[in-house]
Amino acid sequence: MKPNRSLHHLSKTFNFGHAAVSGKADCAEEAWFWETENVGSLRLEHVSKDYVTEGNAVPALHDVSLEFRAGEFVVLVGRSGCGKSTLLNLAGAMDFPTSGTVWLDEMSTSTLSDGALTRVRREKVGFIFQSFQLLPTLSVIENVELPLMLAGQSQARNTASERLRWVEMDSYANRMPYQLSGGQMQRVAIARALANAPSLLLADEPTGNLDNATSEVILALLRRIADEMRAIVLMATHSLEAAGKADTIVRLQDGRVQSVSSAEKLTGMR
Ligand code: ADP
Ligand code: MG
Repeated sequence: MKPNRSLHHLSKTFNFGHAAVSGKADCAEEAWFWETENVGSLRLEHVSKDYVTEGNAVPALHDVSLEFRAGEFVVLVGRSGCGKSTLLNLAGAMDFPTSGTVWLDEMSTSTLSDGALTRVRREKVGFIFQSFQLLPTLSVIENVELPLMLAGQSQARNTASERLRWVEMDSYANRMPYQLSGGQMQRVAIARALANAPSLLLADEPTGNLDNATSEVILALLRRIADEMRAIVLMATHSLEAAGKADTIVRLQDGRVQSVSSAEKLTGMR
């Protein structure tokens, strides 16, 4: 998409369209968001990734095999540079393995057409970041509405309101991002990532810019997204702050899986 032109167009549409579609969220839409069994799956099979810079291959991941199930909250830990962001980008079909296969909902990401990739990224995957990445010229509700409009959803405004209610940010719907705290921005970013009810939520150091108390709120939301929406939640962090909320902890070292621990086996973690 061409950001400036389409954003200009979209903000105009939002201004004119607001009155027509505001009001309580449609019940059928709410039911779909909450009750449909999410059966997403994610499997990495002997995945390696080399980046090529100035003719040299930089290895980022080496022979990674992992499998996750719907409703699983996975924390990916390891030092800066160990390959966490690379793994998230491969999982979300934003990038592709040099060798091996990423299976997302039983589809190999490397074999998808451009059109199918666009749909997968838009409808199956939600992404949140350390820096929130809200669009500064759009209001809170417009930020959440955008991915719904891009997916052609007819009830975009209602669904956006519903997502904002879920993260308890509905009373901030008409604010601009610069008028929010970091924790509030991340809650809006979560609402946006959930817009199209994804089967996979990827979170790249989502608490990296937040204080401890606010981080707890965000982690609790991620836990609920796994429990209540049955999404796979895959969160990268370089600290163990989130381990207590996770089902699974994957430790990466120099692009390799060092260990996979189940929280149930670690006493007192949940
Ligand atoms: P982490 O998120 O754990 O900090 P990354 O996945 O960002 O680690 O990086 C893994 C390795 O790949 C690092 O050595 C990094 O320098 C390298 N890397 C990451 N992205 C690129 C890129 N676009 N081009 C070249 N090298 C990259
Ligand atoms: Mg990273």
